[in-house]
Amino acid sequence: MPKIQLHWQILIAIVLAIGAGLITGHYEETAGAARALATYDFLGTLFISALLMIIVPLIVSSIIIGIAGIAQEGRLGPMGGKTLGFYIATGLIAVLVGLIYVNLTTPGFANGEPLGPERLGLDQEAAEAVEEIGEADASEVVEIFLRMIPENVVAAAVEMELLGLIFFSLLFGYFMTRVAKENADTLYRFWDGVFQVMMKITHLVMLFAPIGVFGLVAEVVTETGLDMAGPLVVFALTVVVALFTHVFVVMPLLIYWLTGRNPLRLFRAMGPALLTAFSTASSMATLPITMDCVRKNANVSQRTSSFVLPLGATVNMNGTALYECVAAIFIAQAIAPAYGVELTFGLQFIVVVTALVTSIGVAGVPMASMVAIGIILTAVGLPIEALGVLFVFDRILDMLRTATNVFGDGVCAVIVAHLEGEEDLLPDPARRQQVIGE
Ligand code: ASP
Repeated sequence: MPKIQLHWQILIAIVLAIGAGLITGHYEETAGAARALATYDFLGTLFISALLMIIVPLIVSSIIIGIAGIAQEGRLGPMGGKTLGFYIATGLIAVLVGLIYVNLTTPGFANGEPLGPERLGLDQEAAEAVEEIGEADASEVVEIFLRMIPENVVAAAVEMELLGLIFFSLLFGYFMTRVAKENADTLYRFWDGVFQVMMKITHLVMLFAPIGVFGLVAEVVTETGLDMAGPLVVFALTVVVALFTHVFVVMPLLIYWLTGRNPLRLFRAMGPALLTAFSTASSMATLPITMDCVRKNANVSQRTSSFVLPLGATVNMNGTALYECVAAIFIAQAIAPAYGVELTFGLQFIVVVTALVTSIGVAGVPMASMVAIGIILTAVGLPIEALGVLFVFDRILDMLRTATNVFGDGVCAVIVAHLEGEEDLLPDPARRQQVIGE
């Protein structure tokens, strides 16, 4: 019997999970449903933990060998410049796509009138929901960047403060090329070995992806169902259409324009990573699978992918930036007049800039956008409690924006690799080296 490709296995798991989740949700109050929910949670948690287990050694080893290789060839400046330039440019494009849609669909208005604080549920419940994610204020933007230089690199690893860990690894990799050759060679072989082992473990974890994804999606569907309600539907659809525009129109055009290659092949190459991002809502947890897909299926060199992808999983979040912008403007449309705030061009400008900056700083974990939106609301003088309303649809929108984030990293890896002169990128699937499970 021919083996089913991994992305099909995951897709089938998602479909089965939706069915299982709906049935479990239907029998909500029964002991059987509670047992089923506990089982979904168990499977999903095991899968996410297995992915997260790989993250710290994977990020450290891949950045160190990536940077050391690039620095050795004297390509650090050009490659770093291209990567960061691309991240900022696509982040900005994503925010602007969101801005255009939210101004066109105006989800914060109903029949030309702002929805107002009540319809946004600015009540006790919203305030309680916000408490869950803690307070946020504008000084947190500065905080995010302060965390880039960790006082203690081991603590940064323990806390999974990836920005700090990345910063340390960048320095380590760079200076590894500045010590005596015999030491440099030993260090390189060590970190390269760690990296290879991490990828092998990733392959093992990927074998269980369909089961883990089943658990994650079934749990979400059981708990939230598929209901769409109230004025929020327009908001949710605005986000979905804007994300789709970015992923299916803007990014493919960029790939085609900058590399002349067929963008459809990247969707196919990244299938398992995109579906895992969708199911886990965490670009950080998806990183091992992203690296595997981009290297093996898209044929991006280890040198480029080891540098671009771990960095991207933390700082390049197109979907998050877009979502933050749409969500903040939606809330502003709905309640700004009630709080004496004017919906001016200046306000939209602050939202655009803050969305871009915070999307760079937030971690690739579920619901990370919420904290960032809190920062944006505070920056424009609106009450942070207003973001309670976003919890209604957050999970599904989080799944979509995370897949967008991960796709953006893959696009960047392919474009940077092309600009670095790499050949045979995005090969015909019939010819390419197969990713595990295919
Ligand atoms: N969940 C997203 C990610 O991991 C971050 C967010 O909440 O937007 O990429």
